[in-house]
Amino acid sequence: MKNIKTLRCKRSNYGGARQSTEWIVIHYTGNAKDTARGNANYFANNNVGASAHYFVDDNDIYSSVPEGDIAWHCETPNMPFRCTCRNRNSIGIELCTCGDYQISEKTADRAAELVKDLMDRYGVPLANVIRHYDVCLKNCPAPWVKDVNKWFAFKERLSDMTETNVQKICNDMIYKYNKELEDRIITFINNKFEAEREPRYDKLEDIPAWAVDTVTKLVEEGIMQGDGKNLGLTKDMLRILVIMDRSGILAL
Ligand SMILES: [Zn+2]
Repeated sequence: MKNIKTLRCKRSNYGGARQSTEWIVIHYTGNAKDTARGNANYFANNNVGASAHYFVDDNDIYSSVPEGDIAWHCETPNMPFRCTCRNRNSIGIELCTCGDYQISEKTADRAAELVKDLMDRYGVPLANVIRHYDVCLKNCPAPWVKDVNKWFAFKERLSDMTETNVQKICNDMIYKYNKELEDRIITFINNKFEAEREPRYDKLEDIPAWAVDTVTKLVEEGIMQGDGKNLGLTKDMLRILVIMDRSGILAL
């Protein structure tokens, strides 16, 4: 692609040979208003501990980290991964802002040209062009996290497909991520409940001596069967049954 300027990132801000190009990750700089040159210059001269392959604004695209190297752009500490995208298998693109932390249409157009070129060269499918947010829930690029339609509109720029198809791909992707996230949350909650669950008395031999007569009667009468295998009684349940039994309410 023509008209890409190069201002190399300081060597201490990136490193390692990239293993593959499976993903293209879109970020924003998070500043109120800035330029590609300003960012490239900053990353060239400061120890930031982060980096990106490209910075894009209304007028320029700056190449910062060489495409063959790993930029440190999408692995955010303490954030859960929602897909297999990592620094080592992706290209990171930072979109600059045009005021009030917004991304201009012109910057989006310029970025779309760059992304299309990368998709062609590396064979990256549209579904694998994602936001930093899709990698690990980071609020980046914030304007396109807040308004997903702006993200859809950007994805639409990347292909000749109809809006419906692009929307469908985006929706499928969001569904997949949400499903993965939902499964993780459910597992987490279940494990937590399991750990905190109060003990159950499942077999007659487990029942404490003070309740054993009552439960034995209920089981022998066929009134209490549990789930067929386990009685599943808590201590509170046992106490209520014993009180009812002793007061004659159960009339066993
Ligand atoms: Zn980001």
